[in-house]
Amino acid sequence: MLNDSHCHFFSSQFFSTLSRQRGRNDTVEALCRELQWDDPGTPDALADRWVQELDAHGVARSALIASVPGDEASVAAALSRHPRRFVGFFMVDPSAEDAVERVTQATTMLGLRVACLFPAMHHVALGDPRMQRVVEAVAGQPGTAVFVHCGVLSVGVRKKLGLPSRFDLSLGDPLSITRLALAFPRTPFIVPHFGAGMLRETMMAADVCPNIYVDTSSSNSWTRYAPGWTLPGVFKTALSVLGPSRILFGTDSSFFPRGWQRGLYESQKIAATDAGINESDQSLIFGGNFDRLFG
Ligand SMILES: [Zn+2]
Repeated sequence: MLNDSHCHFFSSQFFSTLSRQRGRNDTVEALCRELQWDDPGTPDALADRWVQELDAHGVARSALIASVPGDEASVAAALSRHPRRFVGFFMVDPSAEDAVERVTQATTMLGLRVACLFPAMHHVALGDPRMQRVVEAVAGQPGTAVFVHCGVLSVGVRKKLGLPSRFDLSLGDPLSITRLALAFPRTPFIVPHFGAGMLRETMMAADVCPNIYVDTSSSNSWTRYAPGWTLPGVFKTALSVLGPSRILFGTDSSFFPRGWQRGLYESQKIAATDAGINESDQSLIFGGNFDRLFG
């Protein structure tokens, strides 16, 4: 059983938001041509394409992340079309006036489950009261979770389009999650990419907070930031601190035609095996934990 806890839903709305940010008024079609990516079409069409892709690779279920604030409806459309295949995640900007209303609407009427916070991108510290209000709104709904991007942040598509990325990486310290995670102990907090370079801080935070999880997604090229870090070593460290039940496999797949990133799955599978992680623990990491959290 394979479940991917980190896939982006690059909808038409996602591309039109980037186009607006660039200020050139390009159509989605023109933007996708420039990127040499496929035009996603309607949310229903993109959802169908994702299902075909998951089927082709034997992936049972996946997260779909609405990857700009305000794109919850696109993922909601995918969920209502394929409720057994997808779990809805959505990016929230806590500095927006309507952040709490959006979270409430997304987690009730739209059926999305995970609010994704990017403190470095939105320039809102994890200790900020606006962050607290958003997390409180999420935690009020059963079956939800919070995703907090920490460590190094670079958004490939923004780079490709020449969009400025004025990220304040100092705001993405996993230790700053602990206050929130302890205040909302029943809400899982997922830190993607093992903390994206802040492995030690992520392990420290997760050691103190039993509701902090990591996802394994992306190429994890942050391992080059410290001497001696290897992916098997990272898996081993995470297993020894978090145990097998708080590690969620993910790829960070996003656009087509590249589709689901099988190569990342294969390299993580090899790394987990090289780390000496046994079959039953691997089955939790690569699928079971996702089903338990998002049953
Ligand atoms: Zn991602």
